[in-house]
Amino acid sequence: MDKYEILEKYYGYHSFREGQEALIDHIMEGKDALGIMPTGAGKSVCYQVPALLMPGITLVISPLISLMKDQVQALNQAGVHAAYINSSLSENQITKALTFAGQGRYKIIYVAPERLETERFFRFAQAAQISMVAVDEAHCISQWGQDFRPSYLHIVNFVNRLPIRPVLSAFTATATGEVKDDIVSVLGLKSPMTLVTGFDRQNLFFAVEQVKDRSRYIRHYVEEHAKESGIIYCATRKNVEKVYELLTEEGVAVTRYHAGLGSEERQRNQDDFIYDRKSVIVATNAFGMGIDKSNVRYVLHYNMPQSMENYYQEAGRAGRDGEPSDCILLYSAQDMMINRFLLENKEINPDFTAQELRTIRERDENRLQTMQFYCNTKECLRAYILRYFGEGKKEACGRCGNCQKSYLEKDMTKEAQTVIACLEEQRERYGLGVVVGTLLGGKRTKLREYHVEQYSSYGALRKCREQEIKDLIGQMIQEGYLRQTADKYGLLQTTGAAQELMEGNCKLIVKTEPKSSLAVAEKEIVLKGSAGRYADILNRRGLAFFDTLRELRREIAREQGLPPYLVFSDKTLVDMCVRLPMSREEMMEVSGVGAYKYKQYGERFLACIMDYTGGMREKFYFEE
Ligand code: ADP
Ligand code: ZN
Repeated sequence: MDKYEILEKYYGYHSFREGQEALIDHIMEGKDALGIMPTGAGKSVCYQVPALLMPGITLVISPLISLMKDQVQALNQAGVHAAYINSSLSENQITKALTFAGQGRYKIIYVAPERLETERFFRFAQAAQISMVAVDEAHCISQWGQDFRPSYLHIVNFVNRLPIRPVLSAFTATATGEVKDDIVSVLGLKSPMTLVTGFDRQNLFFAVEQVKDRSRYIRHYVEEHAKESGIIYCATRKNVEKVYELLTEEGVAVTRYHAGLGSEERQRNQDDFIYDRKSVIVATNAFGMGIDKSNVRYVLHYNMPQSMENYYQEAGRAGRDGEPSDCILLYSAQDMMINRFLLENKEINPDFTAQELRTIRERDENRLQTMQFYCNTKECLRAYILRYFGEGKKEACGRCGNCQKSYLEKDMTKEAQTVIACLEEQRERYGLGVVVGTLLGGKRTKLREYHVEQYSSYGALRKCREQEIKDLIGQMIQEGYLRQTADKYGLLQTTGAAQELMEGNCKLIVKTEPKSSLAVAEKEIVLKGSAGRYADILNRRGLAFFDTLRELRREIAREQGLPPYLVFSDKTLVDMCVRLPMSREEMMEVSGVGAYKYKQYGERFLACIMDYTGGMREKFYFEE
């Protein structure tokens, strides 16, 4: 079999996505590879397809038990022999799994990094033919990453002790330059191919809403999306409880997740959500790592997260199946304070020196500020995100929340010139806080220490509100007149383009929201994402049929003890509604129906379609 046949047979997909093929080809040449792709891009296919093509076993290093379980279930569903070995198994089960593995029964074995350090596992690996070691969530290897896992550092020892060096591949969704370098050097990748695919998630709708009453918004939104699966993130446990109660009172099938709950309850609640027994989960950011649920239709943020990295990762849990989904952030100015408090009190590795600690704090503060810029920008949100992740300047997308709003425009070229003059006379030595303080004529101790009152720009923008100046600077960065150094200091500097602005060759137009538009915007967004989500492709009957197929999926999932999305994804069900397959052949054309899945479920779905349409496709399509 070649890679195309494998994709077709086991996954039921007809073509590779961006980047997948290049990585697979490279790996098949026996070379190391690093894939940096956003959540939902399809990293698993990049190592699973080679795993099935290579002669021996592939070990997949994965940080979380839930992640391994999900992946192995998905593989087994597709007809691939795979297993995991981790601490959720008893000693007996581990012995059995290792015996089977030794007999070559599994092509793919998922393990936690700690497992590699055990002698018993090493003995197995030494005797087996290991073709590849694939490191999932590879950013865990870096001290700079958000989820550093010390045992990731030992992967390379394990690999070096093997009699034959297997191919090494690594995958992650978040990798700044530092993290990328760490992955390559710590894992000892040999002249790897590093492939970064676009971070754009076309199917996600992004919006930021500054609504007066967040509870009302959430209630309204969830009601409008009653049958859909969604996550609501809050910054604190207290907020989780509050939103959870609010929705419970409304009679929503809702559950919750935060570190204050016992581990059993957390597991139960998570399962309720994954198995579609509860449609909504309200959670802190403790929830989500390792959740591969593909039919999450919306992610709402009740509070602003602490960084763009966090936000994109959390929001990115929506729409993994590629179907339209919403990512809406409800922003309130207090979120800054809550987050500062959380950051100041977060647990930090006690081995860090005072200097390292300071660096981390400053970095945290800068990330928080960038997040706030996102919440306040009036420009295209998608373009903002993509630029943040290093994809250069982008056109406005035309379909995010900001692109769809109408704004009042105000010429702030003069004020922008004042900002530039201020930076110049301060010789670009300060970060946002000091610059804004200077322009406002502030009197804080830090400002006095720097003697900012000596500058002619001191107090020059006294008549503006602090937030207005911050937004202005944020926009100047976005439009390329200023930049902020990427180091811990986050110094504001002018670029070549600033001169153009100084000379009046171009204008800086700031957009503001007309007061009355808030309520309108709220309503529009709520409606936008609702059942109308599929309105372009499915008519009223199609939508009703989608519900029927969902019901059948739930029934099968219950019988099999599987999360429904592992039976078929939402995308597959929508495709069935569109095509209305009436034979085995037609069913195999549906995206996500592979040979093995057809054998298990194909006929039941065919029967359901025949039953519903009476075998008359045309009638079903055209009759309203
Ligand atoms: P990641 O690990 O990058 O977040 P996954 O590997 O979980 O992403 O894949 C996300 C979804 O996309 C899964 O439902 C997967 O089956 C699907 N997918 C992957 N590759 C393809 C493809 N070539 N065509 C269609 N769907 C795909
Ligand atoms: Zn846009």
